[in-house]
Amino acid sequence: MKHAVVTGGAGFLGSHLVDDLLESGYRVTVLDNYGSGRPENLSHLEDENLDLREHDVRDPFPEFDGVDTVYHMASRASPRDFESHAVEIALTNSQGTKNALECARRYDAKTVIASTSEVYGNPEEHPQKESYNGNVNIRGPRAPYDESKRFSEALSIAYDQSYDMDIRTVRIFNTYGPRMRHDDGRVIPNFLSQALSGDDITVYGDGSQTRSFCYVTDLIGGIRKLAEAPASDVSGEVVNVGNTHEITIERLAEIVLDAVDTDSEITYLPLPKDDPEVRCPDISKARRLLGWEPEVPLEEGLDRTIEQFHVANRA
Ligand code: NAD
Ligand code: UDP
Repeated sequence: MKHAVVTGGAGFLGSHLVDDLLESGYRVTVLDNYGSGRPENLSHLEDENLDLREHDVRDPFPEFDGVDTVYHMASRASPRDFESHAVEIALTNSQGTKNALECARRYDAKTVIASTSEVYGNPEEHPQKESYNGNVNIRGPRAPYDESKRFSEALSIAYDQSYDMDIRTVRIFNTYGPRMRHDDGRVIPNFLSQALSGDDITVYGDGSQTRSFCYVTDLIGGIRKLAEAPASDVSGEVVNVGNTHEITIERLAEIVLDAVDTDSEITYLPLPKDDPEVRCPDISKARRLLGWEPEVPLEEGLDRTIEQFHVANRA
């Protein structure tokens, strides 16, 4: 039985990845410090092939009896945390990446690194291709996240060059779905919790900035395809995974108001510093290398997420 180690496996994306790995017949060890994740995200799984361990990836990993794939998913990802948890984030994506790579090196395992569209910063190329080098404010409030993710990619290249490893990097674009925390701070959980509780929806700035939202099962499908593709096709590659349907944040607010039965209205708050004005992935590489593209439309993904937020509200 193949063994996958998933850092951040008790978080939003990590827990969906764990579901998928167990369904595919993997034995899975999760390493998570429960900072922004929760063991409850995995409590629906009574699976003897799941080993859930409280562990901070800034510390060296425990020993295992063999590992086939290391998925390095750990890191807080909400811009709200980029300043309040700056040092933790910077070290999770540097020291934590080093420990993940060392684990993979020790067991001759594949590594999948979770990078982000934030490496493109406030992009001057649109949509963003993997070849675009980005426009990150290296001293701004988002830098502890953006720059540590860029370093995480650089360290992966260093390990590949020095130790000839099989490392695959996914640049994840805005993804949403069930198991996001209501108080996560990112736009979809914020808008849904506000609409469901009748509070006004907080649009930052004038709402003309754009994002492209990917439903979680699509994203996990893309990551798994990247992980399972032949090394000759994808070892050493970086691939954008996200949805190409780009909308303004004001439009997202309107869609949420339509989807939820609510008296909420839109209220406008100041735009945070360095908030990217546009973001949309070019996914031609994922299409070509992985035969992957997203399938779940925004309205359908939002309905599935709203259903889970309702259940959690009632609980
Ligand atoms: P999340 O906050 O729900 O999950 C992150 C998980 O990592 C949590 O369980 C948290 O407790 C754990 N973690 C954080 N620091 C840790 C540490 N030092 N040691 C051990 N565990 C630690 O966020 P998410 O949205 O699921 O993001 C998962 C990964 O995907 C992150 O690497 C993030 O940067 C990346 N990503 C996510 C998105 C998105 O839209 N969801 C976009 C781009 C990149
Ligand atoms: N945003 C907003 N209201 C909120 C939360 C976020 O208008 O309550 C905006 C934010 O300014 C950004 C976009 O929504 O332009 C996406 O923000 P998020 O924090 O989800 O992630 P980002 O894409 O900025 O990393």
